[in-house]
Amino acid sequence: MYCNKNVIVYGSGISGQGAARVLAKEGWRVFLYDDQLCEISPELEKTLFAASGRVVCGNFPKLIGSADLMVLSPGIPVDSDNVRLAENSGMEVISEIELAYRIYKGSLIAITGTNGKTTTTTIIGEMLKKLSVPSAIGGNIGLSLSEEAERLPKDSWLAAEVSSFQLERVRSFAPDIAVVLNLTPDHLERHHTMDAYAAAKKLIFAQQTAEQVTVLNYDDSVVRQWADECKGQICYFSRKTALKKGVFIQDGNFVVKWKNKVNIICGVGEVHLFGGHNEENILAAIACGFFAGVTSGEMAEVLRDFQGVEHRLEYVTTIKGVRYYNDSKATNTDSTIKALQAFKNGHVILLAGGHDKMTDLNTLMSAVKEKTDMLILLGEAKERFHKAALECGVKNIILADSFKDAVQKAYDIAKEPQVVLLSPGCSSYDMFKNYPERGRYFKQLVMALSS
Ligand code: ADP
Repeated sequence: MYCNKNVIVYGSGISGQGAARVLAKEGWRVFLYDDQLCEISPELEKTLFAASGRVVCGNFPKLIGSADLMVLSPGIPVDSDNVRLAENSGMEVISEIELAYRIYKGSLIAITGTNGKTTTTTIIGEMLKKLSVPSAIGGNIGLSLSEEAERLPKDSWLAAEVSSFQLERVRSFAPDIAVVLNLTPDHLERHHTMDAYAAAKKLIFAQQTAEQVTVLNYDDSVVRQWADECKGQICYFSRKTALKKGVFIQDGNFVVKWKNKVNIICGVGEVHLFGGHNEENILAAIACGFFAGVTSGEMAEVLRDFQGVEHRLEYVTTIKGVRYYNDSKATNTDSTIKALQAFKNGHVILLAGGHDKMTDLNTLMSAVKEKTDMLILLGEAKERFHKAALECGVKNIILADSFKDAVQKAYDIAKEPQVVLLSPGCSSYDMFKNYPERGRYFKQLVMALSS
């Protein structure tokens, strides 16, 4: 791509280390910078060193002037002092997904949205495996996109989960298929306004051309209107409306209608994933599979086999007729609402709370009122959630002393046909390192109760 040039890779997590490895391989002198270093593999340190680069921790201003390009990891806010400093010095600053795009020679699918990205990307990844060419998934899903991009040949497919953070510094990024699942308030501590958050999301299709495809959620009133700003072919998906053209549910089947040809994929009842939100994820995945050339039969096979992703409405076990679900990944209120709506008969004992993102709680509490028999609150958010629940007329509320206490209280109360659901609507940083740690702890407590 380029050679004999200097680059700062900012952030030493999975994306940063992947980008550093790829750039060093391409002949760049790489400074892998972090304010606080993650664990760096000795093999990577050696690779950087061999190309006269190194790992740097702290004192960023000293690095300015020594590089022509900066590659940003998703965790680094674009308005941070160091990024400003770099940009003011005239350095080009790009995100790691832009780097991957510049390296990659194959066909690219990119998936964004407030919720559902990992689930949708994982399903697409399974569908792509049915093709006779190599394929992979990467990005926000815990795999460095640049490394996958570098590894894959020209005739491959790559599905990238991209967050709004990663989209903030793209330039030429133009996926062959771009997907926007939905848009609800989240990450406002970083984007500040909904407009800025939406603007970042729209960068997924901003550079697309007429022969590329933009997959948009017809049922999301905001996302639907974005079609006016797209240059690619629009493929809507809808779970509520039989579209003239697009992917939708009709007579209980997932259906693709394109160029007046109708393809029935499989019955909604044949898949393990449940909840309206998962139907949307499946529809979006089908659109991608269809345009990537996966046959209807192959897509049906994938959907019938797919068991879901850990920590997303994950079934844990049944104790005394009560089913327990781990939805620790519900780190915003919209995903908790979707989880509640997935239980058509209600009778949910909901465990919610954690690190408060300070978003509005009205819609959440209306869903809580409709679907729950008991709301058990925990973590830093519990007082604000409690107040909002009372204002909304939620009657049965318990404030738990600890996470363990919350699970114990749920167990003490729950009777068939109730279900116990951990769907916090908050991030986990008040009590845990991350949401998987929270989900695993929940499962451990539940399994201990069951034995
Ligand atoms: P993301 O990668 O965007 O965070 P995930 O697939 O990991 O999305 O799901 C995150 C949370 O959002 C889970 O709690 C899940 O139950 C919920 N969720 C999944 N898909 C959707 C959707 N399409 N709309 C709203 N919530 C969803």
